[in-house]
Amino acid sequence: MIFILLGPPGAGKGTQAKMLEEKLRRPQISTGNILRKSIQSGSELGNKAKVFMNSGRLVQDDIVIGLIKERIVEDDCQSGFILDGFPRTIVQAERLTETLGEMNLSIDAVIDFEVDSEELINRLSGRSTCLTCGAMFHKESCPPLKDSVCDDCGGELSQREDDKEITIKKRLDVYEDETAPLKEYYRKQGNLKTVQGRGTVQEIFSKVCAMVS
Ligand code: ADP
Ligand code: ZN
Repeated sequence: MIFILLGPPGAGKGTQAKMLEEKLRRPQISTGNILRKSIQSGSELGNKAKVFMNSGRLVQDDIVIGLIKERIVEDDCQSGFILDGFPRTIVQAERLTETLGEMNLSIDAVIDFEVDSEELINRLSGRSTCLTCGAMFHKESCPPLKDSVCDDCGGELSQREDDKEITIKKRLDVYEDETAPLKEYYRKQGNLKTVQGRGTVQEIFSKVCAMVS
């Protein structure tokens, strides 16, 4: 059971991936979260990635491919997983296909979240993220009960460095140039399913559930 969540930054992949993780009992694998953890831990890899992430560019393919290869051989991935934010380039997609092939695995579906860019900018610029558990809040649509405190774990909320306005624009451009071509790549493989990412989190989740069952 392998699912890929595809879509621009702010489309809601992370939120839906977390919900799917619970429903399907398969882990969410978010390269963004893994990279942010390496930055926090001060590792060499984290320091390398930081410059790219904070300026809205992609981290090098070799780095993220390496992270994914390490992650998917862990015990909890053996009956499947949900990829969130990977692959993001054609090279990454090709290497994933190759790696899964070697493991005798294949992708069940690629779910593509479609949201217009005005809505994306609004979502990202009002967003705050828990430094501890990764939960996300929005100042209008989903405010935390207590200012700057995570409802789920009590951790501290902060605005991601790359959720500043100019960086958001850069991320959207990078998405169009490098990631959007994956839609065609997976359409050709017969795996692509498109979901309209407007609506409440629950409405979208119902549509996603129909696609994974
Ligand atoms: P979003 O989807 O909202 O942009 P992510 O947490 O998925 O958030 O990614 C944040 C940043 O992490 C990206 O802008 C990029 O710099 C880096 N990143 C995450 N996944 C990848 C990937 N598969 N390839 C390259 N860079 C990545
Ligand atoms: Zn939290």
